[in-house]
Amino acid sequence: MKKFECKSLGSDCQFSASAENAEEVVAKAEEHMATAHNMQRGEETKAKIRTALTEA
Ligand SMILES: [Zn+2]
Repeated sequence: MKKFECKSLGSDCQFSASAENAEEVVAKAEEHMATAHNMQRGEETKAKIRTALTEA
């Protein structure tokens, strides 16, 4: 199980997402980053998200 916590990217945000599949978490997190933090969807954002994934 992979988990993403938005606060691990340095923002004061309680969002977290988890799923069995890393790409699924990345997709959920990317959507969140785009809608909540005005970030571009794309490889740059995904790469950033991947660095913050943890085992849950
Ligand atoms: Zn967030």
